[in-house]
Amino acid sequence: MSMEITFLGTGSAYPSPTRGASAVAFRYEGECWLFDCGEGTQTQFMKSHLKAGRVSKIFVTHLHGDHVFGLPGLLCTISLQSSPTVSRQPVEIYGPEGLRDFVWRALALSRSELVFPYVVHELVPTADQCPEGELKEPSYLNPSNDNPSKEAQGRTIRLDPEEGSYLLVENEHFVVKAFRLFHRIPSFGFSLEEKERPGRLNAQKLKDLGVQPGPAYGKLKNGTAIVLENGLTVSPRDVMEEPVPGRKICILGDCSGPVGDGGVKLCREADLLVHEATLDDSQMAKAREHGHSTPLVAAEFAKLCGAKKLVLTHFSQRYKPTALAGEGETDDVQELKRQAESVLDFQEVTLAEDFMVIDIPVKKTKPGLPERTVTCGCVTEPALGDF
Ligand SMILES: [Zn+2]
Ligand SMILES: [Zn+2]
Repeated sequence: MSMEITFLGTGSAYPSPTRGASAVAFRYEGECWLFDCGEGTQTQFMKSHLKAGRVSKIFVTHLHGDHVFGLPGLLCTISLQSSPTVSRQPVEIYGPEGLRDFVWRALALSRSELVFPYVVHELVPTADQCPEGELKEPSYLNPSNDNPSKEAQGRTIRLDPEEGSYLLVENEHFVVKAFRLFHRIPSFGFSLEEKERPGRLNAQKLKDLGVQPGPAYGKLKNGTAIVLENGLTVSPRDVMEEPVPGRKICILGDCSGPVGDGGVKLCREADLLVHEATLDDSQMAKAREHGHSTPLVAAEFAKLCGAKKLVLTHFSQRYKPTALAGEGETDDVQELKRQAESVLDFQEVTLAEDFMVIDIPVKKTKPGLPERTVTCGCVTEPALGDF
């Protein structure tokens, strides 16, 4: 159950030889999801250990070019490298309202026909996610209702006002939600929460109870109690090890801060929090004016959420990666690390660099639950409150 993220682009505004434009790949059990797709993301893929053709979902934080200009090109290249005869599931794309039109228009005007289907699910932002007048009406953004053959009908996803979030994906392994951020145009953050996994069957306990390998094992694994020939009922919890807690990764788009409390709720105790820090703290006013964060803003958010690891990214191109910085350069990216760490009581903060891979290890199982009493024909439940 390995889980890792790879930074394919860590610079703001435009791609440079030292920092590509925004893109983060998430890999889990053969799945590859992409978060943002700045210009040049496809060449970053080629330089990395990842295969762009594996991407099945793409999440776009906001519609600024340094996060989305690479998307039509990436889709076209994946298409060129795909066999037209092999049917595949649609590539699912999630992002703010207007993204569907952007993708469709770029593909239609360039006469690009993909050999695989795609679908764009749009998130409806709220007016308080950007300065007044910056939120465009969908009718302005979507003047065309034409539907090219390979585009499937996507969903329009609205804010759940109770939760302060948008539910994007729920499958066997994950729940992916989005939350609102404040930026020059509406921006979003994404939380990926792995579901708790059931513990393994304890072979010794099964043997001690006299459960024979076979269908009984399968039933117990699927959560069904069994009754043995001697009348003994064995419940899954009697013979299974403790569940394995899920991991949580949160990736934020450009922002000067969250909107509402959805972000703090969803990022609570994140194992990994990826936050932008475009400029250092001495340029706070400029950062704020452009809807961006400094290390102080990022670290305070991480602290508020109790995040276990903070990674800073989306640096102004003036901050070269440490190993590539020239003699006498005054803009030292290490200063951003120091600024963030001073807020987090010197807990280590990571500075993202292109092609950096971060592994998120499997968590240890939860502390043991109280022993349960196995009796003839029934299971005695511990009194409520024991857990
Ligand atoms: Zn940006
Ligand atoms: Zn932006």
